[in-house]
Amino acid sequence: MSFEIGLLCRDCGKRFPTQPMAGCDECFAPLEVAYDLDAIGHAVTPLALQQRPRTMWRYRELLPVPAAAGGFERPVGGTPLLAAPRLARELGVRELYLKNDAVNFPTLSFKDRVVAVALSKAREFGFRTVACSSTGNLANALAAAAAAEGLEAYIFTPADLEEAKISATRIYGARLIKFHGNYDQVNRLCSELAERYPWGIVNVNLRPYYAEGSKTVGYEIAEQLGWRLPGAVVCPMAGGSLIGKIAKAFGELRQLGWLAGGDGPVRMYGAQASGCAPISLAVKQGQDEITPQRPQTVARSLAIGNPADGFHAVRVIRDSGGWAEDVTDAEIVAAMRQLAETEGVFGETAAGVTLAVAHKLLRQGRIAPDAPLVLVITGNGLKTLDAVQAWPQPIPVLAPKLHHLEAYLQAPLPPASAPSAIPA
Ligand SMILES: *Cc1c(COP(=O)(O)O)cnc(C)c1O
Ligand SMILES: [Zn+2]
Repeated sequence: MSFEIGLLCRDCGKRFPTQPMAGCDECFAPLEVAYDLDAIGHAVTPLALQQRPRTMWRYRELLPVPAAAGGFERPVGGTPLLAAPRLARELGVRELYLKNDAVNFPTLSFKDRVVAVALSKAREFGFRTVACSSTGNLANALAAAAAAEGLEAYIFTPADLEEAKISATRIYGARLIKFHGNYDQVNRLCSELAERYPWGIVNVNLRPYYAEGSKTVGYEIAEQLGWRLPGAVVCPMAGGSLIGKIAKAFGELRQLGWLAGGDGPVRMYGAQASGCAPISLAVKQGQDEITPQRPQTVARSLAIGNPADGFHAVRVIRDSGGWAEDVTDAEIVAAMRQLAETEGVFGETAAGVTLAVAHKLLRQGRIAPDAPLVLVITGNGLKTLDAVQAWPQPIPVLAPKLHHLEAYLQAPLPPASAPSAIPA
Protein backbone atom coordinates (compact mmCIF):
# COMPACT_ATOMS: atom_id res chain seq x y z
CA MET A 1 0.00 0.00 0.00
CA SER A 2 0.97 3.65 -0.30
CA PHE A 3 -0.53 6.96 0.79
CA GLU A 4 -1.14 8.36 -2.69
CA ILE A 5 -4.76 8.91 -3.63
CA GLY A 6 -4.39 9.39 -7.36
CA LEU A 7 -3.55 12.26 -9.66
CA LEU A 8 -4.84 15.80 -9.46
CA CYS A 9 -4.86 18.48 -12.16
CA ARG A 10 -3.02 21.49 -10.82
CA ASP A 11 -5.18 23.92 -12.81
CA CYS A 12 -8.76 22.62 -13.07
CA GLY A 13 -8.69 20.26 -10.06
CA LYS A 14 -9.89 17.20 -11.99
CA ARG A 15 -8.94 13.91 -10.31
CA PHE A 16 -7.66 10.75 -11.97
CA PRO A 17 -6.84 7.28 -10.61
CA THR A 18 -3.15 6.31 -10.43
CA GLN A 19 -2.05 5.50 -13.99
CA PRO A 20 0.58 6.45 -16.55
CA MET A 21 -0.59 9.87 -17.73
CA ALA A 22 1.18 12.92 -19.17
CA GLY A 23 -1.27 15.72 -18.41
CA CYS A 24 -4.90 16.63 -17.73
CA ASP A 25 -7.26 15.46 -20.49
CA GLU A 26 -9.45 18.54 -19.96
CA CYS A 27 -7.00 21.43 -19.80
CA PHE A 28 -3.60 19.78 -20.63
CA ALA A 29 -2.03 21.15 -17.43
CA PRO A 30 0.59 19.06 -15.58
CA LEU A 31 -0.73 16.55 -13.03
CA GLU A 32 0.31 16.16 -9.44
CA VAL A 33 0.23 13.17 -7.13
CA ALA A 34 -2.23 13.70 -4.25
CA TYR A 35 -1.71 12.13 -0.80
CA ASP A 36 -3.69 11.46 2.35
CA LEU A 37 -1.56 13.72 4.56
CA ASP A 38 -3.67 12.98 7.67
CA ALA A 39 -2.94 9.27 7.34
CA ILE A 40 0.75 9.98 6.78
CA GLY A 41 0.80 12.11 9.94
CA HIS A 42 -0.60 9.13 11.87
CA ALA A 43 1.71 6.58 10.27
CA VAL A 44 5.09 8.21 10.81
CA THR A 45 6.85 10.92 12.81
CA PRO A 46 10.02 12.90 12.09
CA LEU A 47 11.68 11.04 14.96
CA ALA A 48 10.87 7.61 13.52
CA LEU A 49 11.96 8.70 10.08
CA GLN A 50 15.34 9.88 11.35
CA GLN A 51 16.17 6.30 12.44
CA ARG A 52 16.05 5.11 8.82
CA PRO A 53 19.04 5.01 6.45
CA ARG A 54 20.00 8.46 5.16
CA THR A 55 18.60 8.16 1.62
CA MET A 56 15.59 9.70 -0.11
CA TRP A 57 13.57 6.57 0.76
CA ARG A 58 13.31 7.65 4.39
CA TYR A 59 10.49 9.93 3.16
CA ARG A 60 8.74 7.03 1.43
CA GLU A 61 5.31 7.79 2.93
CA LEU A 62 5.44 11.14 1.12
CA LEU A 63 6.28 9.54 -2.24
CA PRO A 64 4.18 7.48 -4.70
CA VAL A 65 6.03 4.28 -3.80
CA PRO A 66 5.07 1.26 -1.66
CA ALA A 67 4.97 2.20 2.04
CA ALA A 68 7.03 -0.84 3.07
CA ALA A 69 10.74 -0.78 2.24
CA GLY A 70 11.73 -3.32 -0.41
CA GLY A 71 15.08 -3.96 1.22
CA PHE A 72 16.94 -3.71 -2.10
CA GLU A 73 16.53 -0.03 -2.76
CA ARG A 74 19.53 1.78 -4.08
CA PRO A 75 20.83 4.55 -1.82
CA VAL A 76 19.78 7.59 -3.83
CA GLY A 77 19.61 11.03 -2.19
CA GLY A 78 20.71 11.81 1.35
CA THR A 79 23.28 14.26 -0.02
CA PRO A 80 25.15 16.73 2.22
CA LEU A 81 23.88 20.15 3.21
CA LEU A 82 27.15 22.03 3.56
CA ALA A 83 27.64 25.17 5.60
CA ALA A 84 29.48 27.59 3.30
CA PRO A 85 31.10 30.28 5.49
CA ARG A 86 33.84 31.34 3.08
CA LEU A 87 31.43 31.80 0.20
CA ALA A 88 29.00 33.50 2.60
CA ARG A 89 31.65 36.11 3.36
CA GLU A 90 32.26 36.77 -0.33
CA LEU A 91 28.52 37.09 -0.96
CA GLY A 92 27.94 39.18 2.15
CA VAL A 93 25.30 36.89 3.65
CA ARG A 94 25.09 35.76 7.26
CA GLU A 95 24.16 32.08 6.91
CA LEU A 96 24.73 30.14 3.68
CA TYR A 97 24.27 26.45 2.80
CA LEU A 98 24.91 24.34 -0.29
CA LYS A 99 22.57 21.41 -0.93
CA ASN A 100 25.11 19.31 -2.75
CA ASP A 101 23.49 16.95 -5.25
CA ALA A 102 26.73 17.02 -7.26
CA VAL A 103 27.49 13.89 -5.22
CA ASN A 104 24.17 12.12 -5.60
CA PHE A 105 24.28 8.35 -6.17
CA PRO A 106 24.74 6.93 -8.74
CA THR A 107 25.19 9.52 -11.53
CA LEU A 108 26.07 12.74 -9.68
CA SER A 109 22.99 14.89 -10.24
CA PHE A 110 19.58 15.41 -8.64
CA LYS A 111 18.04 13.55 -11.60
CA ASP A 112 18.88 10.29 -9.77
CA ARG A 113 16.03 11.17 -7.40
CA VAL A 114 13.37 11.68 -10.07
CA VAL A 115 14.39 8.55 -11.94
CA ALA A 116 14.27 6.47 -8.74
CA VAL A 117 10.58 7.32 -8.26
CA ALA A 118 9.72 7.05 -11.97
CA LEU A 119 11.21 3.55 -12.19
CA SER A 120 9.44 2.40 -9.03
CA LYS A 121 6.24 3.41 -10.85
CA ALA A 122 7.38 1.82 -14.13
CA ARG A 123 7.75 -1.45 -12.20
CA GLU A 124 4.26 -1.07 -10.72
CA PHE A 125 2.73 -0.38 -14.15
CA GLY A 126 4.62 -3.30 -15.72
CA PHE A 127 6.69 -1.39 -18.29
CA ARG A 128 9.63 -3.38 -19.68
CA THR A 129 10.99 -0.48 -21.73
CA VAL A 130 11.67 3.01 -20.43
CA ALA A 131 12.71 6.16 -22.27
CA CYS A 132 13.28 9.88 -21.88
CA SER A 133 14.16 13.06 -23.68
CA SER A 134 17.06 14.69 -21.90
CA THR A 135 19.54 17.56 -21.80
CA GLY A 136 22.09 15.13 -20.28
CA ASN A 137 21.72 14.43 -16.58
CA LEU A 138 18.39 12.65 -16.93
CA ALA A 139 19.98 10.51 -19.65
CA ASN A 140 22.76 9.44 -17.25
CA ALA A 141 20.36 8.78 -14.38
CA LEU A 142 17.87 6.76 -16.43
CA ALA A 143 20.56 4.74 -18.19
CA ALA A 144 22.14 3.71 -14.87
CA ALA A 145 18.90 2.90 -13.08
CA ALA A 146 17.47 0.98 -16.05
CA ALA A 147 20.65 -1.11 -16.20
CA ALA A 148 20.36 -1.96 -12.49
CA GLU A 149 16.72 -2.97 -12.94
CA GLY A 150 17.27 -4.92 -16.17
CA LEU A 151 14.99 -2.65 -18.21
CA GLU A 152 15.55 -1.67 -21.81
CA ALA A 153 16.26 2.07 -22.08
CA TYR A 154 15.96 4.48 -25.01
CA ILE A 155 17.49 7.91 -24.51
CA PHE A 156 16.78 10.80 -26.87
CA THR A 157 18.86 13.95 -26.78
CA PRO A 158 19.73 17.04 -28.81
CA ALA A 159 22.88 16.64 -30.94
CA ASP A 160 25.05 19.10 -28.96
CA LEU A 161 25.31 17.09 -25.72
CA GLU A 162 28.58 17.26 -23.70
CA GLU A 163 31.01 14.36 -24.29
CA ALA A 164 30.99 13.31 -20.63
CA LYS A 165 27.22 13.06 -20.59
CA ILE A 166 27.27 10.94 -23.76
CA SER A 167 29.80 8.43 -22.36
CA ALA A 168 28.04 8.40 -18.98
CA THR A 169 24.90 7.26 -20.81
CA ARG A 170 26.34 4.72 -23.24
CA ILE A 171 28.46 2.95 -20.61
CA TYR A 172 25.25 1.53 -19.08
CA GLY A 173 24.19 -0.08 -22.35
CA ALA A 174 21.30 2.30 -22.97
CA ARG A 175 20.35 3.03 -26.59
CA LEU A 176 21.25 6.69 -27.11
CA ILE A 177 19.86 8.46 -30.16
CA LYS A 178 20.71 12.08 -30.96
CA PHE A 179 18.51 14.38 -33.01
CA HIS A 180 19.23 17.48 -35.01
CA GLY A 181 17.39 20.17 -33.12
CA ASN A 182 16.89 21.28 -29.55
CA TYR A 183 15.42 19.61 -26.47
CA ASP A 184 11.94 20.93 -27.09
CA GLN A 185 11.75 19.24 -30.50
CA VAL A 186 13.03 15.96 -29.04
CA ASN A 187 10.49 16.19 -26.23
CA ARG A 188 7.64 16.64 -28.71
CA LEU A 189 8.76 13.45 -30.42
CA CYS A 190 8.62 11.66 -27.05
CA SER A 191 5.00 12.74 -26.57
CA GLU A 192 4.16 11.08 -29.90
CA LEU A 193 6.06 7.93 -28.88
CA ALA A 194 4.13 7.72 -25.60
CA GLU A 195 0.87 7.43 -27.55
CA ARG A 196 2.18 4.79 -29.91
CA TYR A 197 4.38 2.46 -27.81
CA PRO A 198 3.86 0.71 -24.46
CA TRP A 199 6.84 2.52 -22.96
CA GLY A 200 7.31 4.28 -19.66
CA ILE A 201 8.66 7.65 -20.74
CA VAL A 202 9.86 9.15 -17.50
CA ASN A 203 9.30 12.80 -18.39
CA VAL A 204 6.10 12.23 -20.40
CA ASN A 205 3.63 9.58 -19.18
CA LEU A 206 5.52 8.99 -15.91
CA ARG A 207 6.17 12.73 -15.40
CA PRO A 208 3.77 13.26 -12.45
CA TYR A 209 5.65 10.55 -10.50
CA TYR A 210 9.11 11.52 -11.75
CA ALA A 211 8.51 15.08 -10.53
CA GLU A 212 7.66 13.88 -7.00
CA GLY A 213 11.23 12.65 -6.59
CA SER A 214 12.34 16.29 -6.53
CA LYS A 215 10.42 16.89 -3.30
CA THR A 216 13.05 14.93 -1.40
CA VAL A 217 15.52 17.81 -1.95
CA GLY A 218 13.14 19.98 0.09
CA TYR A 219 12.57 17.41 2.85
CA GLU A 220 16.30 16.90 3.23
CA ILE A 221 17.06 20.63 3.43
CA ALA A 222 14.49 21.05 6.22
CA GLU A 223 15.62 17.97 8.15
CA GLN A 224 19.31 18.88 7.81
CA LEU A 225 18.54 22.34 9.21
CA GLY A 226 17.01 20.64 12.26
CA TRP A 227 13.41 20.55 10.92
CA ARG A 228 13.60 24.24 10.20
CA LEU A 229 12.98 26.01 6.90
CA PRO A 230 15.53 28.40 5.41
CA GLY A 231 14.60 32.01 4.65
CA ALA A 232 15.34 31.68 0.96
CA VAL A 233 16.31 29.10 -1.66
CA VAL A 234 18.00 29.74 -5.02
CA CYS A 235 17.23 26.93 -7.47
CA PRO A 236 18.23 26.40 -11.12
CA MET A 237 15.33 25.97 -13.55
CA ALA A 238 15.07 23.96 -16.77
CA GLY A 239 11.56 22.57 -17.14
CA GLY A 240 10.65 24.45 -13.95
CA SER A 241 9.67 21.36 -11.96
CA LEU A 242 12.31 21.18 -9.19
CA ILE A 243 11.69 24.67 -7.78
CA GLY A 244 7.95 24.00 -7.42
CA LYS A 245 8.53 20.61 -5.81
CA ILE A 246 10.91 22.03 -3.20
CA ALA A 247 8.18 24.54 -2.31
CA LYS A 248 5.61 21.71 -2.25
CA ALA A 249 7.84 19.73 0.13
CA PHE A 250 8.12 22.69 2.53
CA GLY A 251 4.32 23.13 2.40
CA GLU A 252 3.71 19.47 3.23
CA LEU A 253 6.09 19.59 6.22
CA ARG A 254 4.25 22.69 7.45
CA GLN A 255 0.87 20.95 7.05
CA LEU A 256 2.13 17.84 8.85
CA GLY A 257 3.29 20.01 11.75
CA TRP A 258 6.78 18.48 11.54
CA LEU A 259 8.68 21.76 11.74
CA ALA A 260 10.39 22.81 14.95
CA GLY A 261 10.10 26.56 14.47
CA GLY A 262 11.53 28.32 11.44
CA ASP A 263 8.30 27.53 9.62
CA GLY A 264 7.75 30.96 8.10
CA PRO A 265 7.46 31.58 4.37
CA VAL A 266 10.44 30.59 2.23
CA ARG A 267 11.24 32.92 -0.64
CA MET A 268 11.89 30.85 -3.77
CA TYR A 269 14.35 32.33 -6.28
CA GLY A 270 14.65 30.87 -9.76
CA ALA A 271 17.93 30.84 -11.71
CA GLN A 272 18.43 30.56 -15.47
CA ALA A 273 21.06 31.30 -18.09
CA SER A 274 20.43 34.43 -20.16
CA GLY A 275 20.81 32.26 -23.27
CA CYS A 276 17.68 30.35 -22.21
CA ALA A 277 15.60 32.31 -19.73
CA PRO A 278 11.89 31.90 -20.56
CA ILE A 279 10.84 31.51 -16.91
CA SER A 280 13.04 34.25 -15.48
CA LEU A 281 11.86 36.68 -18.19
CA ALA A 282 8.21 35.97 -17.40
CA VAL A 283 8.86 36.68 -13.71
CA LYS A 284 10.78 39.89 -14.43
CA GLN A 285 8.21 41.17 -16.91
CA GLY A 286 5.25 40.31 -14.69
CA GLN A 287 3.75 37.93 -17.23
CA ASP A 288 1.93 34.62 -16.69
CA GLU A 289 2.49 33.28 -20.17
CA ILE A 290 5.86 31.77 -21.04
CA THR A 291 7.30 32.90 -24.37
CA PRO A 292 9.32 29.95 -25.75
CA GLN A 293 12.97 30.62 -26.62
CA ARG A 294 15.60 29.04 -28.80
CA PRO A 295 18.35 28.07 -26.28
CA GLN A 296 21.96 29.22 -26.74
CA THR A 297 23.95 28.76 -23.53
CA VAL A 298 26.89 26.91 -21.99
CA ALA A 299 24.44 25.63 -19.34
CA ARG A 300 23.08 22.87 -21.56
CA SER A 301 21.42 21.00 -18.70
CA LEU A 302 19.07 24.00 -18.32
CA ALA A 303 18.52 24.58 -22.05
CA ILE A 304 14.76 24.02 -22.23
CA GLY A 305 13.17 26.80 -24.27
CA ASN A 306 9.57 25.72 -23.72
CA PRO A 307 9.41 24.56 -20.07
CA ALA A 308 6.57 22.17 -19.19
CA ASP A 309 6.23 23.56 -15.66
CA GLY A 310 7.21 27.13 -16.49
CA PHE A 311 3.82 28.65 -15.78
CA HIS A 312 3.65 26.91 -12.39
CA ALA A 313 7.22 27.93 -11.54
CA VAL A 314 6.34 31.59 -12.16
CA ARG A 315 3.37 31.26 -9.82
CA VAL A 316 5.38 29.52 -7.08
CA ILE A 317 8.10 32.18 -7.24
CA ARG A 318 5.63 35.05 -7.15
CA ASP A 319 3.47 33.58 -4.36
CA SER A 320 6.56 32.98 -2.21
CA GLY A 321 7.72 36.60 -2.44
CA GLY A 322 10.79 35.52 -4.40
CA TRP A 323 12.13 36.55 -7.79
CA ALA A 324 14.09 35.19 -10.75
CA GLU A 325 17.16 36.26 -12.68
CA ASP A 326 19.44 35.06 -15.44
CA VAL A 327 23.17 35.38 -16.06
CA THR A 328 25.63 35.33 -18.97
CA ASP A 329 27.92 32.43 -19.87
CA ALA A 330 30.92 34.40 -18.55
CA GLU A 331 29.19 34.93 -15.19
CA ILE A 332 28.31 31.22 -15.07
CA VAL A 333 31.90 30.09 -15.57
CA ALA A 334 33.26 32.65 -13.07
CA ALA A 335 30.77 31.40 -10.48
CA MET A 336 31.74 27.75 -11.08
CA ARG A 337 35.32 28.72 -10.25
CA GLN A 338 34.29 30.73 -7.19
CA LEU A 339 32.23 27.82 -5.80
CA ALA A 340 35.18 25.48 -6.21
CA GLU A 341 37.77 27.93 -4.83
CA THR A 342 35.79 28.99 -1.76
CA GLU A 343 34.03 25.79 -0.70
CA GLY A 344 35.73 22.94 -2.55
CA VAL A 345 32.60 22.07 -4.50
CA PHE A 346 32.91 21.48 -8.24
CA GLY A 347 29.40 21.94 -9.57
CA GLU A 348 28.39 21.84 -13.20
CA THR A 349 27.28 24.82 -15.28
CA ALA A 350 23.86 24.78 -13.58
CA ALA A 351 25.65 25.39 -10.25
CA GLY A 352 27.39 28.37 -11.83
CA VAL A 353 23.98 29.66 -12.89
CA THR A 354 22.66 29.32 -9.34
CA LEU A 355 25.57 31.06 -7.64
CA ALA A 356 25.81 33.85 -10.21
CA VAL A 357 22.08 34.52 -9.90
CA ALA A 358 22.41 34.60 -6.08
CA HIS A 359 25.13 37.27 -6.52
CA LYS A 360 22.92 39.29 -8.83
CA LEU A 361 19.83 39.11 -6.60
CA LEU A 362 21.87 40.08 -3.53
CA ARG A 363 23.29 43.08 -5.42
CA GLN A 364 19.75 44.05 -6.43
CA GLY A 365 18.60 43.81 -2.80
CA ARG A 366 16.04 41.15 -3.76
CA ILE A 367 17.56 38.56 -1.38
CA ALA A 368 17.90 39.65 2.24
CA PRO A 369 21.49 39.07 3.45
CA ASP A 370 20.45 38.17 7.02
CA ALA A 371 18.11 35.21 6.36
CA PRO A 372 19.43 31.62 6.08
CA LEU A 373 20.03 31.06 2.37
CA VAL A 374 20.30 27.71 0.56
CA LEU A 375 21.82 27.30 -2.92
CA VAL A 376 20.70 24.12 -4.66
CA ILE A 377 23.70 22.54 -6.42
CA THR A 378 22.14 20.06 -8.84
CA GLY A 379 24.96 18.52 -10.86
CA ASN A 380 28.67 17.69 -11.03
CA GLY A 381 31.38 19.78 -12.72
CA LEU A 382 33.19 16.73 -14.07
CA LYS A 383 30.37 16.40 -16.59
CA THR A 384 30.81 19.90 -18.02
CA LEU A 385 34.60 20.22 -18.24
CA ASP A 386 34.31 21.97 -21.61
CA ALA A 387 32.95 25.04 -19.78
CA VAL A 388 36.12 25.52 -17.70
CA GLN A 389 38.80 24.57 -20.18
CA ALA A 390 40.19 28.09 -20.69
CA TRP A 391 42.91 28.96 -18.14
CA PRO A 392 44.92 32.19 -17.86
CA GLN A 393 48.19 30.34 -17.07
CA PRO A 394 49.56 27.18 -18.68
CA ILE A 395 50.47 24.29 -16.34
CA PRO A 396 54.28 24.18 -15.79
CA VAL A 397 55.99 20.94 -16.82
CA LEU A 398 59.41 20.53 -15.18
CA ALA A 399 62.19 17.97 -14.97
CA PRO A 400 61.72 16.08 -11.65
CA LYS A 401 64.71 17.70 -9.93
CA LEU A 402 64.62 19.85 -6.80
CA HIS A 403 66.62 22.67 -8.33
CA HIS A 404 64.24 22.93 -11.28
CA LEU A 405 61.27 23.23 -8.92
CA GLU A 406 63.08 25.80 -6.78
CA ALA A 407 64.08 27.79 -9.82
CA TYR A 408 60.49 27.77 -11.01
CA LEU A 409 58.97 28.73 -7.63
CA GLN A 410 61.47 31.54 -7.06
CA ALA A 411 59.96 33.70 -9.73
CA PRO A 412 56.46 33.99 -8.26
CA LEU A 413 57.51 33.65 -4.57
CA PRO A 414 59.56 36.32 -2.77
CA PRO A 415 62.34 34.68 -0.64
CA ALA A 416 60.81 36.00 2.60
CA SER A 417 57.75 33.77 2.20
CA ALA A 418 59.87 30.61 1.99
CA PRO A 419 59.72 28.44 5.14
CA SER A 420 62.86 28.65 7.32
CA ALA A 421 65.34 25.80 7.08
CA ILE A 422 64.39 22.57 8.86
CA PRO A 423 66.21 22.54 12.21
CA ALA A 424 68.89 19.86 12.49
C1 LIG B 1 17.25 18.98 -14.93
C2 LIG B 1 18.17 19.86 -14.20
C3 LIG B 1 17.73 21.01 -13.51
C4 LIG B 1 16.34 21.59 -13.57
O1 LIG B 1 15.29 20.78 -13.36
P1 LIG B 1 13.80 21.13 -13.72
O2 LIG B 1 13.06 20.36 -12.70
O3 LIG B 1 13.58 20.64 -15.12
O4 LIG B 1 13.60 22.61 -13.63
C5 LIG B 1 18.67 21.71 -12.77
N1 LIG B 1 19.96 21.35 -12.73
C6 LIG B 1 20.43 20.28 -13.39
C7 LIG B 1 21.88 19.98 -13.30
C8 LIG B 1 19.56 19.50 -14.13
O5 LIG B 1 20.04 18.44 -14.79
ZN1 LIG C 1 -7.10 20.14 -15.81
